[in-house]
Amino acid sequence: MLEVDNLRVQLDADAGLVRAIDGMHLSLSRGETFALVGESGCGKSMTALALMRLLPENGRVASGAVRLDGEDLLALPERRMRDVRGGRVSMIFQEPSTSLNPVMRVGDQIVEAIEAHTELRGKAARAKALDWLARVGIPEPQRRIDDYPFRLSGGQKQRVMIAIALAAEPDYLIADEPTTALDVTIQAQILDLIRDLQRERRLGVLLITHDLAVVSGMAHRVALMYAGQIIEVAPAAEFFAHPKHPYARLLLQALPDAARRGEPLAAIAGTVPPLWLDFAGCRFWPRCDKAMGHCASTLPELTDEGPQHQVRCLLYSQPGDALPRQAVVPKLLPPVPAGQGAPLLDVRDLRVRFALKAPLLHRGPRHFDAVDGISFQLHAGRTLALVGESGCGKTTSGKAIVQLLRRQAQISGQALFEGQDLFQLTGAALVEARRSVQIIFQDPFASLNPRMRVAEVLEEGLIALRPDLDAGARRDRLHALVDQVGLRRDALQRWPHEFSGGQRQRIAIARALAVEPRLIVCDEPTSALDVSVQAQILNLLRELQREQGLAFLFITHNIGVVEYIADDIAVMRAGRIVEQGNCQTVLRQPRDSFTQNLLAAVPRLTVPMR
Ligand code: SF4
Repeated sequence: MLEVDNLRVQLDADAGLVRAIDGMHLSLSRGETFALVGESGCGKSMTALALMRLLPENGRVASGAVRLDGEDLLALPERRMRDVRGGRVSMIFQEPSTSLNPVMRVGDQIVEAIEAHTELRGKAARAKALDWLARVGIPEPQRRIDDYPFRLSGGQKQRVMIAIALAAEPDYLIADEPTTALDVTIQAQILDLIRDLQRERRLGVLLITHDLAVVSGMAHRVALMYAGQIIEVAPAAEFFAHPKHPYARLLLQALPDAARRGEPLAAIAGTVPPLWLDFAGCRFWPRCDKAMGHCASTLPELTDEGPQHQVRCLLYSQPGDALPRQAVVPKLLPPVPAGQGAPLLDVRDLRVRFALKAPLLHRGPRHFDAVDGISFQLHAGRTLALVGESGCGKTTSGKAIVQLLRRQAQISGQALFEGQDLFQLTGAALVEARRSVQIIFQDPFASLNPRMRVAEVLEEGLIALRPDLDAGARRDRLHALVDQVGLRRDALQRWPHEFSGGQRQRIAIARALAVEPRLIVCDEPTSALDVSVQAQILNLLRELQREQGLAFLFITHNIGVVEYIADDIAVMRAGRIVEQGNCQTVLRQPRDSFTQNLLAAVPRLTVPMR
């Protein structure tokens, strides 16, 4: 058994001493999958690094123990710990591209792990590596074993990572967001593989993820973390059917899906508190909808509230009167009428071709058709979801429509916006079209200039696309914009890095809204965000759409988000649309086999709370 006993991990940071893990207990048996879930910054990954003794330089274990079959790993000399790492306990990380050595053949990387932890050497080790490549489902392993990582797809790289992690046949596997960077179909294959290997080898798996649907399909037990502490532990079925902690309940209600269409998602106000604070009471109380008077001044302990079910909440151990909290009145929004009349955007036979940089004597193709003749229509006030696996051309289509690829690619076909072909516009007409069609990107940090204050970020587009506004009118517009997206007005004088991910995405939305667009291309706008923040952003987008009649071209791979927000859907594969139509009809009765496979691979909450 792998046991963690009252573990405390501290980090030195500019702001002070950060208590990243504050008194954690957990146990993992052979053959069991134990999921550690929670939002970013709650301490999940730090737990994994502490177990493997791989903490960053500014971090240390302040107290507690990590025992493997009774032996304290924290007290082992580093030489023996190296045998444990990879030999008895292995780890796979979220991003296989950065975890594999780019200048070493994949086979050699597996052989290295085998030779470090088993008796096998030379040919025998290579034969074993070949065997592992085949077991993790790499096609043509004899040929692939001598490939460098850059020749493999993301899913294949993650399979190689799993082969390396399991090559020494460990007893326990720590999988830190093992499928977050992968498409749903590859994710399903990787999760099946982990399940099979677990059954075969009685592997104990510590699964670290923020994806509750993945947890519901994989885990035997679940621990929910918040601000460095475990706040609820339960068998998975019990956790999803009867969550007890107010945070757990809110998180499950914040998940978008078809059943919540038309109603606002439960958004959890505020953010996780910084961990350099000295907490006098419950860490969740500023955000809790069930908070009581004594929650701010009493530290809740983890108490037994059912068989194997523990909760850190005073509602159960010291109940009292609920604090009056301002009720969140859900905004009831009228349903969107089906698209009538002329479409706002009518895309006809759109093709986007990129030139390939091929060597002089190269005989293969010299171009790549990222989008290969797609057509669709989008009406004002409606949302069309463009879905498909990475590399299928959905983002390229969005960028082409927003005129971001005019210089990089050869574009043909038409994108008629209110009857005018966007690709043929020049001069003042092009400026006007740029104003009407805006884009919001996936990564709100990368898309905001870090050297510009928020006011400058928002004003930049106004100056370029609304030259009719004077300084006073622009200032009024900025105030209206931050009000609209739910930020305080003092945000205008602050820098992007001072905001959380969700706040930065609000700034990006305000920037898009600044020039009063009619259509917004939303390119994975919530995929970098935690569930509760995603709920806030989806609620905001829905409200803005109903109030202003905006049309959204919503590019995403998250089917839950599609079910919740989209009216229509177009499924893309290899640059083409394979199926499109009303969202609910396509999702319930997909006709194309690719759509069927895509939907079958989507992990679902098997015991949803309603
Ligand atoms: Fe909410 Fe109080 Fe429970 Fe904390 S202890 S989760 S504030 S009810």
